Amino acid sequence: MKKSLSFLPVLIILMCPFIAPVIHQADASPQFVDYIFCNGNIITIDETNPLVQAIAINDDLIVGLGSTEEILENFATENETTYDLDGRTIMPGIIDGHTHYMASLFWIGETETIYESQIIALANGYTTLNEKSIDMGEFQWLKEAEQNNTLRLRVNAFLIYNYAWLENNETVLVGHWNPDLEPLLDHDRKLRVPGIKIYLDGAYGNRGFPAMSDPYTQEMMDLWGIINPYGDLYFNQSELNSIVDSIHDRGFSVAVHAMGDRATETILNAIEYALNGTDNDNARHQIEHNSFIREDQIAKALSLNTIHSVRGYFPTYWQQEYADLYSSIWMERTVNRYSLPGEGLHSYLETDFGFLHGYDEDNWSKSANIRPFLHLWGLVTRKAIDVNGTIHTPDPWVAEHEITVEMALRMMTIEGAYAVKQEDYIGSLEIGKYADLIVLTGDPLTMEVDNLKDIEVMLTMVDGNIEYQIASHTFPTPFTSQTSQTASAIWITLLALSSLIVVRSERRK
Ligand SMILES: [Zn+2]
Repeated sequence: MKKSLSFLPVLIILMCPFIAPVIHQADASPQFVDYIFCNGNIITIDETNPLVQAIAINDDLIVGLGSTEEILENFATENETTYDLDGRTIMPGIIDGHTHYMASLFWIGETETIYESQIIALANGYTTLNEKSIDMGEFQWLKEAEQNNTLRLRVNAFLIYNYAWLENNETVLVGHWNPDLEPLLDHDRKLRVPGIKIYLDGAYGNRGFPAMSDPYTQEMMDLWGIINPYGDLYFNQSELNSIVDSIHDRGFSVAVHAMGDRATETILNAIEYALNGTDNDNARHQIEHNSFIREDQIAKALSLNTIHSVRGYFPTYWQQEYADLYSSIWMERTVNRYSLPGEGLHSYLETDFGFLHGYDEDNWSKSANIRPFLHLWGLVTRKAIDVNGTIHTPDPWVAEHEITVEMALRMMTIEGAYAVKQEDYIGSLEIGKYADLIVLTGDPLTMEVDNLKDIEVMLTMVDGNIEYQIASHTFPTPFTSQTSQTASAIWITLLALSSLIVVRSERRK
């Protein structure tokens, strides 16, 4: 009797963590769901619950997040779809806030192979593409794809208001927008139309040049063939005011191409005019590129709460050419865009990817690169790779505004969702949100920043469906009762410990 009396209290205390779940399970049997991922490092991008071990998914929704024990206690799967992450990282699917992926499939004539053609985006971890230039023909094609269930990821189409180019030094405008259109904002649809794209100034080429408040030098004009010393602005202030106002009144957001600071000035004024004192949190008007943004314009953007695109990876080894040609004021403006997230402005990743820009899987040097983790590396380190594979470190003026990995990950996920009014549905892993997630080969939050560019996507899930699995790894592997094996190992240790305690207490007596 003495033996059992001294043994029992110790054992009961030690056993408590193991008894509790058993009692719990007897109360309520686990809910059957489609997928469970456990034993992982899950970056949720939800500040209230930033890291968890396990996630449960049913139909298209996230239904559980927590420790592996909690999730396995409350949920179960049939058909071996409980997967062991073995410590690997999950994060929300990547949202590209400014891409031409789908549009460029149309441009290169891949309309028939739309289902297959999305695999490159999926393999890179994209689950949502904010398409910043869709004309009515492309829109019809996307609508048919949605109806035929061949859209494998979410597409937010920004329909073109205008396109423009220069002919004999005159701007030729082509309007595409049908003013009878309504926004398409249903969250349960793969294809949405949250906004209208306006091209406001040039872009180093046949559309003219960025509109600046002070002139290009004669050297730049000769070198690049610039005709208008102040660049090319397609609409004056009163024209743009009425365009933005009418689009705003129809319930669309505007997404406005503005590279030069004179263009930024004009669009900030036009957005202020359309908002008419209301908060941009309702309208979500956004400015693309921000290539030469001034300090006073950042202050104005903050007061208007406008949303801004920020290019991720950029070939900063071009910097010497800029440093030779730009004044120090221009250099300051051109790196100011990287200060926007740190200033507290809503800022999302812009890859500006398009197949026409010359997609080459093995060439990482391209400015409009599809690789999201190359963009992450670019944002955080400002380093760049040239065509020969040489890594270039940035000059101090390029490296001035640091973006942390945490900030950059938000730009690649929840901020892209915010720009299309979907922050309550996608962009982070939270119960009740759509199951758009990716499994990674490494943890971006803990690895050496120089290795960020090498992260690979092992699995991509969109809307609760596994749309991509890496071929070179056996992943995911079904969960075996590893946890229960661990538990029984602890059990045996505890039993051994308990008997030791008993033996010792008996000896004492
Ligand atoms: Zn673009």
